Amino acid sequence: MKSKGAVYLVGAGPGDAGLLTLRGAELLAAADVVVYDQLVNPDLLRLAPQAELIHRGKGMAMPQAEITALILAKAREGKTVVRLKGGDPYIFGRGGEEAEALVAAKIHFEVVPGVSSIVAAPNYAGIPLTHREHCSSFTVFTGHGDPAEAHTDLRYDQIAKIPGTKVVLMGMDRLAEWTQNLIAHGLAAETPVAVVQQATTGRQRSVAGTLGNIAALAAEKKISPPALTVLGGVVTLRDRLNWFEHRPMFGKRIVVTRTRTQASELSRQLAGRGAEVLEIPTIKAVPPTNVTPLADALLELNSYDWLVFTSPTGVTKFFEFFFRGFEDMRDIGGVRIAAVGPATAAKLKELHLKVDVMPEEFVGGKIAAALAKYETVENLKFCLLRAEVATRELPQALEALGGIVDDIPCYRTVPETEDRTGAAARLLEAGADWITFTSGSTVENFHARFDLPALLKQFPQIKLASIGPETSKALTALGLQSTVEAKPHTIEGLVAALEKQ
Ligand code: SAH
Repeated sequence: MKSKGAVYLVGAGPGDAGLLTLRGAELLAAADVVVYDQLVNPDLLRLAPQAELIHRGKGMAMPQAEITALILAKAREGKTVVRLKGGDPYIFGRGGEEAEALVAAKIHFEVVPGVSSIVAAPNYAGIPLTHREHCSSFTVFTGHGDPAEAHTDLRYDQIAKIPGTKVVLMGMDRLAEWTQNLIAHGLAAETPVAVVQQATTGRQRSVAGTLGNIAALAAEKKISPPALTVLGGVVTLRDRLNWFEHRPMFGKRIVVTRTRTQASELSRQLAGRGAEVLEIPTIKAVPPTNVTPLADALLELNSYDWLVFTSPTGVTKFFEFFFRGFEDMRDIGGVRIAAVGPATAAKLKELHLKVDVMPEEFVGGKIAAALAKYETVENLKFCLLRAEVATRELPQALEALGGIVDDIPCYRTVPETEDRTGAAARLLEAGADWITFTSGSTVENFHARFDLPALLKQFPQIKLASIGPETSKALTALGLQSTVEAKPHTIEGLVAALEKQ
């Protein structure tokens, strides 16, 4: 039976991906379709890798009637639709209208609140909405409406008289107009005011002044939507409470070029220090061209003396296949396990598998020597679980010592061409402060996708950060130089080196 469709109006929060609710994340993971607006942080779409994505387009390109019709149509097909809206769905987002249409169409719906920019933007600009010494209320209104229009209930004469903090959404187009209006109706021109653009994201910018001069200051600083304005004594607390904008990498746009699965740690550390991170992986791992050797190896795992993993991806991909065929980890048998390099060993540790030998260097001869030191290699059977295109060095070195080797491709790396989060488009449009490289191959693959020297010519402010000498060599080969080389050659070392800049 076809499942019945449902629509979830989900608040995506104000920008910072970490401000999505757990319920929102759960629904994204279960969605067949995600329909999202311009204000939504596209990084959140990673939580729905399985879903069809429909972007409403810049400046709400798709009209409201069309978007409502689309949501209804998808739900009627039996799909689970997540309608992802910036901030909270019921605050100036026409969420109420969409919910009414769902009721009329008798489609099951739920609404998941989101962290609204009303509370998040002032906070991230160092401003508490209320504070005992300043106010005991706050008022929210839109600065977008024309008070002369019949349908609006905006009354500047009354707003000017309400005490307490005021928060103004959508107020950029008419900033000069409504600020003057409030002054004309008696609100002091000296009232402290701050405007925050793209709040809670790595692109946040803010400016503070007074009701009298904020329009001029915002124009001078070229503040543009989405932006929110806060009025009141609480704005003065910003000097002391501005935790977000004072983080060490605030305002820096940094490109991370690792594959999606490996990128998270670097991205997390950079974002945690306030950077705007653009994750632009240039390669991804896909199944090998021929899976038969792997399927055969899985059937005779018991015949091997050693499983040899040479990359974290190899571990991930091997066990993906393994658990398709087996339910129990004990089916791996009494085999010994070798992992080349600490990252590969760490991946195995996540699975609670003990590594018997961990050769440090990625050189065939050295790996074979490390295994031979553990026990005599002669007549032992090795299963190498590697990428499809790997050098013959390691199998040859083991065979030279009398080992019997099956070289089994577990995955194949191919260029990444998708840009689901729009990070690549953003780099090409706005450039960046740093591009980070964590291996020679990230350099080569990034160059293949973007033409690195040409990109640097177009955006001369871009600087290059390398994790170590091998990676720097790959840059030199392109006639380029890194500004920063990490020491130690680890993710932590790279982050520390960037923080010092
Ligand atoms: N439902 C949203 C508001 C939608 S109306 C919410 O709850 O936040 C759009 C307006 O919200 C923008 O014009 C701007 O005034 C404000 N806004 C939304 N996100 C913002 C952000 N990250 N920074 C500053 N203002 C934001």
